[in-house]
Amino acid sequence: LRANISVIQRETGFVNGLIAVLHDITEQEKLDAERREFVANVSHELRTPLTTMRSYLEALSEGALHDKELAPRFLSVTQYETERMIRLVNDLLNLSKMDSRNYEINANWIDFVKFFNHIIDRFDMMKERDITFKRLLPNKVIFVEVDEDKITQVIDNIISNALKYSPDGGQITFRLKELDGKVEISISDQGIGIPKDNIDRVFQRFYRVDRARTRQLGGTGLGLAIAKEMISAQGGEIWAKSKEGKGTTILFTLPYDPVQEDDWS
Ligand code: ADP
Repeated sequence: LRANISVIQRETGFVNGLIAVLHDITEQEKLDAERREFVANVSHELRTPLTTMRSYLEALSEGALHDKELAPRFLSVTQYETERMIRLVNDLLNLSKMDSRNYEINANWIDFVKFFNHIIDRFDMMKERDITFKRLLPNKVIFVEVDEDKITQVIDNIISNALKYSPDGGQITFRLKELDGKVEISISDQGIGIPKDNIDRVFQRFYRVDRARTRQLGGTGLGLAIAKEMISAQGGEIWAKSKEGKGTTILFTLPYDPVQEDDWS
């Protein structure tokens, strides 16, 4: 709130009164500030991989190209940075689509337990480190109406993080619970955790607990922000619980009506 205050003063110097005009500009100012910060963040995020690539390419052109040991290493760095930039730009496009409401929810009734199992299987096959997957999923069919592609992306982002921040030998636990009018999905890891004060901020765009570290792990800082947009577009909620040094659980809900499901089938 901003106040413009005018003082009504007589020639004698006595103050006769005050006029205060109050403007509610906080919302607009906040939006402007957020937009500026976002643009600054995007520029910074793109500049980092670009400057890295420039110095590696320079080194290559100044002779490293003919060094049998250095050349492949330098090329793989530029390749890695290119991949990360592509991910970043894709994430940005996704977010901007969601911001402009220029996207559709393609919801279908799917057997959610089976769908969840498929995604977990995919990560189980691909994972390169010693991390155990534990599934605590109901052994029954639960039909939920969701946009498969979008929920796949949400779950992919959460599992990728769980793997990234897990120690070797750690365990990731997948749960699905039926609650009143919704299903609750959770993914827990035994990784580094998130400090208590930052727990809600991890859903903000570009927020990272440890910038340097997460960038090194290939993150864009947008994964959970995208997940949040996608879950709320489908009427659900997403949040995190964590203990530093012990692990993190990301939970989300989706509307679910077992009665409708019975009618429908
Ligand atoms: P990033 O691409 O950096 O992983 P995200 O939006 O997916 O971006 O996550 C934001 C930040 O939240 C991460 O940089 C990390 O600091 C923290 N975070 C997310 N998931 C976990 C997790 N499972 N364990 C610890 N920290 C996490």
